[in-house]
Amino acid sequence: MTQLAAVSEAGDVRSYVGGEWREATGDDGRDVINPATGERLAYVPFSDADDVDAAVRTGREAFEDWSQRPVEERIQPMFRLKTLLEEHQEELAELLVTEHGKTLAEARGELRRGIENVEVACGIPSMMQSGSLLNAAPDIDESAVRKPLGVFVAVTPFNFPGMIPLWFLPYAVATGNSFVLKPSEQDPLVAGRLFELIDEAGFPEGVVQLVNGGVDTVNAFLEHDGVEGVSFVGSTPVAKHIYETAAANGKRVQAQGGAKNHIIVTETADLEYAAEKTISSACACAGERCLANDVAVVEEGVYDEFVDLVLEEARAQTVGYGLDEDTDIGALITPEHEQNVRNYIELGVNEGAELLLDGRDIDVEGYEDGNFLGPTIFGDVTTDMVIAREEIFGPVLALTTVESVDDAIDVLNRSEFGNAASLFTGSGADARKFRHRTDVGNLGVNVGTSAPMAFFHFGGWKDSFFGDLHAQGEDMIQFYTDKAIYIERWPDA
Ligand code: NAD
Repeated sequence: MTQLAAVSEAGDVRSYVGGEWREATGDDGRDVINPATGERLAYVPFSDADDVDAAVRTGREAFEDWSQRPVEERIQPMFRLKTLLEEHQEELAELLVTEHGKTLAEARGELRRGIENVEVACGIPSMMQSGSLLNAAPDIDESAVRKPLGVFVAVTPFNFPGMIPLWFLPYAVATGNSFVLKPSEQDPLVAGRLFELIDEAGFPEGVVQLVNGGVDTVNAFLEHDGVEGVSFVGSTPVAKHIYETAAANGKRVQAQGGAKNHIIVTETADLEYAAEKTISSACACAGERCLANDVAVVEEGVYDEFVDLVLEEARAQTVGYGLDEDTDIGALITPEHEQNVRNYIELGVNEGAELLLDGRDIDVEGYEDGNFLGPTIFGDVTTDMVIAREEIFGPVLALTTVESVDDAIDVLNRSEFGNAASLFTGSGADARKFRHRTDVGNLGVNVGTSAPMAFFHFGGWKDSFFGDLHAQGEDMIQFYTDKAIYIERWPDA
């Protein structure tokens, strides 16, 4: 691996505070490991409460000047960042694969989706405008304006280390706030490289900062008086904790949690297409996606045919090292997580589901120390089984059958999660019913994985989201600003 400024010569991952690379001063930390090879890539020392305080104070000082700069000036480094990210996309993708385990194609796609958010934030001068009305009352003109608020923090998960920080950072900064990222401690190197490019893009010192760390680091941010608001993406129990603690400390908060998503396959669907999209939805990124649709609810008339097609598609997947271009399914993040997924597979067998394809006996030649699992498919799953209800976060698909589309929608609506769902159908009436009746935040029709473009908000309902304003797009402008009203009267002298 090439030496990064974000990593010390001793191999310690650094934070970026006040425009400088710094070592965290906490005692705790963890190794960063290549999930496909088992190679130790670096060590990430965790920041303690003093490190957090230093970053928040620096961010607060930077905010005083940054928030007063003309908006046109604030977006110039954003344009440079877009160009730098594009120039370095391939190198970033390789680093991402090395520390995360997904495939190169997935890493490239993820980075593209991240850059999209930088592009949208370049349009902040239009997006930040509010309404105004002449003669709102006798001789009175009124206008609403949006103002930035201070220091915002984002705490992000391991599964999209290149994209998810960019769901927040560009909007926070372009609206005039300062911003601190606390990336996942499991794969912090891409964030480090991203901040090297941020350094090059020329943001003023302290406007954009990186603080590495773990649970205590996050809690220090939640309790710090100088933090105005917190964005979180991660598992549901932690999302609840972040939502409650940040709100109790008087902060704005948006917390995206875990998921259990469904695909409905109707009798009028193009079954081959639906099978291909179902496998890619459930198994891409080794199933480590909050949008993975890993329960397929199939109308009974086409269940057997669909099962055959899905099995054929799954057997065609190549499991391997993400840097090999012909790999379809890469490694899982850690051996502990791999074991967790194996436990779910064992549980599915014990619950009485039919194990149609077992991905546990996978050998990836040359990568014996990697955390690999092949696609695993359960048939005859009932909706009360744990494997149909809990997030597994591995390449495991559950197939279940229903009598009608109405029954299928009922299955989705009984889930405690509401992140994503897809419907495969040839019927407009079914599609309309799905759109109207399903209590889910990201809905796809004849789309395998419903990931919204950056100019739309990223949905998420029920236990998949705590808060009201979502990531990306217009919601971000509202989250990062507050509105003030100006009421003016200028009588003739
Ligand atoms: P995680 O909840 O373990 O960690 C996420 C972040 O929270 C990390 O930065 C971590 O340091 C911090 N953290 C962990 N435990 C904490 C605690 N007790 N207190 C304070 N901070 C804590 O999640 P993960 O394993 O990194 O990511 C996978 C999860 O993220 C899955 O559940 C997935 O569905 C979810 N996810 C959701 C979305 C979405 O948009 N809804 C997107 C991506 C991932």
